[in-house]
Amino acid sequence: MVSPQGRLFGTNGVRFIPGVSADLEFVIKFAECIGTYFSEGEVLVGRDGRLSGEALTLALTSGLMSSGRDVAEAGLVPTPALQYATKTLGYRGGVMVTASHNPAEYNGLKVVGSDGVEINRLDEQKIEKIFRDDSLKRADWKNVGTSRAEPSVIKTYLNGVLSKVNARLIAGRKFSVVMDPGNGAQCLAAPYLLDMLGCKIITINSIIDGRFPARGPEPTPETLGDLSAAVRAVGADLGVAYDGDGDRAIFCDENGAIYWGDQSGSLLTDYLLERVTDATIVTPISSSQVVEVVAAKRGAKVIRTRVGSVDVSRTIIERGAFFGFEENGGCIYPAHIAVRDGGMATALMLECLAARGLSFSKIIANTLPRFFQAKTKVHVPPARVKEIMKTIEKQAGVRVEKVDGLKIWTDEKTWVLVRPSGTEPIIRIFAESETEEKVNSVFKKFVRLVKSASAS
Ligand code: MG
Repeated sequence: MVSPQGRLFGTNGVRFIPGVSADLEFVIKFAECIGTYFSEGEVLVGRDGRLSGEALTLALTSGLMSSGRDVAEAGLVPTPALQYATKTLGYRGGVMVTASHNPAEYNGLKVVGSDGVEINRLDEQKIEKIFRDDSLKRADWKNVGTSRAEPSVIKTYLNGVLSKVNARLIAGRKFSVVMDPGNGAQCLAAPYLLDMLGCKIITINSIIDGRFPARGPEPTPETLGDLSAAVRAVGADLGVAYDGDGDRAIFCDENGAIYWGDQSGSLLTDYLLERVTDATIVTPISSSQVVEVVAAKRGAKVIRTRVGSVDVSRTIIERGAFFGFEENGGCIYPAHIAVRDGGMATALMLECLAARGLSFSKIIANTLPRFFQAKTKVHVPPARVKEIMKTIEKQAGVRVEKVDGLKIWTDEKTWVLVRPSGTEPIIRIFAESETEEKVNSVFKKFVRLVKSASAS
């Protein structure tokens, strides 16, 4: 069960398995705490396509109403659409029922402020304190909240994205795009966005299904074989895949090669930096050093954060940064909204392709220096995580960054990051270097260390 004494919020919102690690009673009470935290105004509520989503949304809505908040129900929408509409339509805040890319049995709650951005860590702690101290406020019979439908969320979102790109330039190229929303929430928005941008669209896995039967809710190079094959089969210019709630986008070139988000994010960084000087780019400690090379060329500064889009978003806002991204495919363009958005990333990528006038693979080859990466996750007993990390630290050598987990540099261009996940009992291991031999050697060494430390 979700422990009321410990942290409730993980890396990105509250996550649990309904009926196993939290029940509807928890959701109602937690929603009353969220409503108490918001203290006034109307809250926008939405959900992704997970099977437990409808039940959780009803519990969430009743909890918010019980605390006196009025609720506007967006229904099934991508997370970035809920966030953008919260900001643009003037809501006090928003709550999204989603577990993003986590397996189908999970679900969760993401709380956003009136700016549409996930609330910061201090505000998360305020809600947790209300929950722990049982200091939530329940409205009396005269002040119980109301609920109504908010049908314009997706339309508002699509218009917002379109307004931030050169739609005429993109439409002029008549791009052919294969899209794989992975049975997730972007099924309801992204195809229409590309249609409005004059693209010829071929979709796969484009029926909402909360079991995520096609490839699971997390888009990675390993799970996107069908996208890659479809792009080659139809001779498309671009392939794009989204995660379960549509805030992450992973791209594939015209040859079917899939790129991690730090490559596509670095490409967008290079493209977007053409229009500004002295810009700041924000990315977590886990993404490729390729962005430093690209940013240096364009006179921009890179700030590294803890892993998690909340940290990236909040740092972008605090530092007035121009753009941010994550290696998992999250792209944040604050001129639109300072949260990651798979639809905005797609529109920007199409604009980059249109402006450069070359194929995706050529643009990547012309823009990004080559680095080699390796990544995996090791399942570990939750109680042993701290001990394992201590063992790793003893092996770490001299140059270690502790922004999040341990980023261990073994030479100028070789690093390995060993980091416990915020949402699951796993330790993630990423490594990168300029040669395949170097990356393999450091990667294998630390995977072995984590496995033996977790078994001992
Ligand atoms: Mg997501």
